Amino acid sequence: METEKMIRELKRVEEIHKHDKVFTGQLNVAQMAHDTRKRLEELKPYEDTGLTPEQIMELKERDTAKAPTKDTDSGVRYTDDYICPNCGKHFTGTGIAEFCYHCGQRLKWED
Ligand SMILES: [Zn+2]
Repeated sequence: METEKMIRELKRVEEIHKHDKVFTGQLNVAQMAHDTRKRLEELKPYEDTGLTPEQIMELKERDTAKAPTKDTDSGVRYTDDYICPNCGKHFTGTGIAEFCYHCGQRLKWED
């Protein structure tokens, strides 16, 4: 069943049971349908992204600024060499790139 349909059905169940007399220990069907529908409505936008939770976490990680490591083995140069904290590839320069141009990792530069 599609989420949209589930939301509509739960709304209907809630409506049907809204005048139920609920005694201690009984399942409050109207309340349960209401809470479940509300939760589904909250989760629907995540479903609509078409992404898996793993993919969303991956994007979140990539967008969280991480400090690159200075490559001390690069020898004497006019520019510094850095290593991406995500993909491990090298790039040159300080505070220029906001993102790693190899993998898109957001970078954090000190002052
Ligand atoms: Zn990278």
